[in-house]
Amino acid sequence: AVIALGTIALAGCTSNGRSGSSSASNNPKDITVGISMPDKALQRWTSAAADLSKDLKSKGYKVDVQYAASSTSTQSQQVQNMANKGEKYIVIAAQDGTTLGPAVAAAKKNGAKVIAYDRLIMNTPDVDYYATYNLQGVGKLQGESIIKKLGLDKGAKGPFNIELLGGSPTDNNAPQFFKGAMSVLDPYFKSGALVSLSSKGVGDNFQQVAIEWTQQAAQTEMQTRLNSFYNGGKKLDAVLAPNDAQAFGVISALKAAGVDPTKVVITGQDCETQNVPLIVKGEQYMSVYKSDVKLSDTVTSIVYNSTKNKTVKTDSKSNNGKTDVPTIQLTPEAVTKDNVKATLVDSGYITAAKAGLN
Ligand code: BGC
Repeated sequence: AVIALGTIALAGCTSNGRSGSSSASNNPKDITVGISMPDKALQRWTSAAADLSKDLKSKGYKVDVQYAASSTSTQSQQVQNMANKGEKYIVIAAQDGTTLGPAVAAAKKNGAKVIAYDRLIMNTPDVDYYATYNLQGVGKLQGESIIKKLGLDKGAKGPFNIELLGGSPTDNNAPQFFKGAMSVLDPYFKSGALVSLSSKGVGDNFQQVAIEWTQQAAQTEMQTRLNSFYNGGKKLDAVLAPNDAQAFGVISALKAAGVDPTKVVITGQDCETQNVPLIVKGEQYMSVYKSDVKLSDTVTSIVYNSTKNKTVKTDSKSNNGKTDVPTIQLTPEAVTKDNVKATLVDSGYITAAKAGLN
């Protein structure tokens, strides 16, 4: 029986090309890496796919890039197909981290390694690595920027009126960003220096503020809040917008209501190229830069070291409800108009002209 089992296992290795170290090629030229991104709507994901493809190709890998058009079922299907095609690494930025279990199980069964990109894949043992930026760190930078710009760290008394927005309820990152921001803002709510006239989200209540990661969702929400709570000349001083798409929507809503956005401290995330000139103009106060180039380098070294059977160095673990996933967390950076040039232009991310600097 022992011999028979051994034979079956070995036959399995050769026929489906599993990545058992004895039979699988460790030449990148023989390996395709699947890259599954949530949507094409945000530059965030198209530039991630482009940077990652470039890096992997420079090491000799072939890549298979798929976008899920914001559909969880499309993404599951695409990952299943990657598994069926025998792709050895599948890098996934999840549309909804809780719905990918069966697809990544299929990938593992076919011998693939699964790497979660930016967003964790939840409630499954079938994730090998997670590469991201420090999630609460992003929110902390947003919160700290608001505190500093309002002068609250220097003794300004307020009270200042602030509105809080959160990201998508199906994105595991979104409550983490919010938590990080609230860890900074909460003491000021408690002391009365910050006040939210809608009181939505106060007390770290993410569910009350979770909306889609889109410009439209934020614009509609902001319009409603302005109409309901800021009529009769009440001043809005700050908006915690969790990403640039939402910041853009907030700015549009303010302008439509006749409020000058340069007088309101508005945060963001991603340094989308359409937002950078708004930062330079002061309409959006800040954004958080999470360089795709760095995250792609990180993922490429995970893939390359695994291919060469070398140790993959990680710095932490992220619990996904089922297992502790070995994680690499990079450090996000705050960008205001003062460091747009140093951070975004000098690194080659955007030209000075596109940034609105000349
Ligand atoms: C990412 C952000 C992005 C958002 C919307 C989050 O999971 O971390 O960078 O702005 O999704 O796509």
